[in-house]
Amino acid sequence: MSEFSQLSITTVPGYLASRPELSTHIDAGRLVSVVEVGDGNLNLVFIVKDEGGRGLVLKQSLPHVRTDPTWAMTRARSTREATLLAEHSRIDAEHVPALYGFDPIDYILAMEDLSDHVVWRTELNAGRVHPYAAAALGRYIGRTAFWTSAFGLTGPQKRNLVAATANPELCEITEDLVFTEPYIDHPHNRVLPGNDKDVADLRADRDLLREIGLAKLHYQNSSQSLLHGDLHTGSVFVRSEGESVRAFDSEFGFYGPTGFDLGAVWANLVIAAARAEALGEHERAVELLGLPVALWNSFELEYRSLWPSRSDPRVYGDDVLEAALAGIRSDAAVFAGAKAIRRIIGFAKATDIESLDEEQRVGAARAVLLAGRALVLERLQDSSPQALTEHTSRII
Ligand code: ADP
Ligand code: MG
Ligand code: MG
Ligand code: MG
Repeated sequence: MSEFSQLSITTVPGYLASRPELSTHIDAGRLVSVVEVGDGNLNLVFIVKDEGGRGLVLKQSLPHVRTDPTWAMTRARSTREATLLAEHSRIDAEHVPALYGFDPIDYILAMEDLSDHVVWRTELNAGRVHPYAAAALGRYIGRTAFWTSAFGLTGPQKRNLVAATANPELCEITEDLVFTEPYIDHPHNRVLPGNDKDVADLRADRDLLREIGLAKLHYQNSSQSLLHGDLHTGSVFVRSEGESVRAFDSEFGFYGPTGFDLGAVWANLVIAAARAEALGEHERAVELLGLPVALWNSFELEYRSLWPSRSDPRVYGDDVLEAALAGIRSDAAVFAGAKAIRRIIGFAKATDIESLDEEQRVGAARAVLLAGRALVLERLQDSSPQALTEHTSRII
């Protein structure tokens, strides 16, 4: 093993043998396969199976970005992922992978093998929508947001959890990549020449820049609920059988504005719709643009259903709920806009758009940029997902 005990296919069996607490999930002496499947930018992921047909996943962080060894990144991100996963699975085990254990010395999570699921973005790119996933994610966000908010916890419980889940390094990445770099000249940015004018127009929009600045400020100041923090369609597993939906890869988890998780899903549905439209799949684009409405409705229903359990009904009256929901809805739209824009201009692009041919790509990118601007600005008039979906449909 190297100086930081980096796992490899050959060292995984020995490692598992040294972790007897995992023996209820896997027989380390009777392994049949160890496969490295990491496809993300950051970490190592191994799927391990034994003779009895049981399996688990090991996920280890490296001291740098997996795809760029010159970009150092704190290994504490694994600790953040384990903490977030433990909290969210306590609240909503149905919608996250089960956490089997965490090794804080070598930064290794052991978790449920979900290889009978498929990544939602991969499915969307192949034209399979899995529409049930939107409502499931609305329930997931509703449950985790309510139970980690000041409505679901007492004051001291919430303040302790805020302190225990600080994630400064990963949050800084979001602050830079989502809220700053797309709006300045930065080496991370790249668009096709056909989109240069679209980017120039966007950066000349003073109203947009003000709203993005305020959104960044809100991201930095709010500690409304404990978020997944990076809930794009590549962080969601779906399985048609049983309509199972799991949010994974929660290393960006932190206490922030509830609308940020909703906005992440919303943005990626807009991006998927732009892809469908570019491919001439208009019906599918329309279906995809309807899903943010399903996401919101299911979130709202869940949140309202939990309201009777709130911590302090003496002052948290129903008018407080209405104001809180209106704020989250408006936040969701502005964060959706910001997240859509960053996937076109900035670092870490979306394969939905990148895998199109060049001419389709220019048109789809333009549509996403315009839809992102509309989400940010039109919500100031009417933040209902229905109204914003109609608006987005006219653009895409
Ligand atoms: P990263 O932080 O590097 O993006 P992810 O958690 O997104 O890592 O995992 C990368 C890939 O590994 C996923 O896209 C998926 O294909 C696979 N993977 C991750 N977790 C699991 C799991 N619990 N079960 C099966 N496959 C998984
Ligand atoms: Mg990932
Ligand atoms: Mg990732
Ligand atoms: Mg990740």
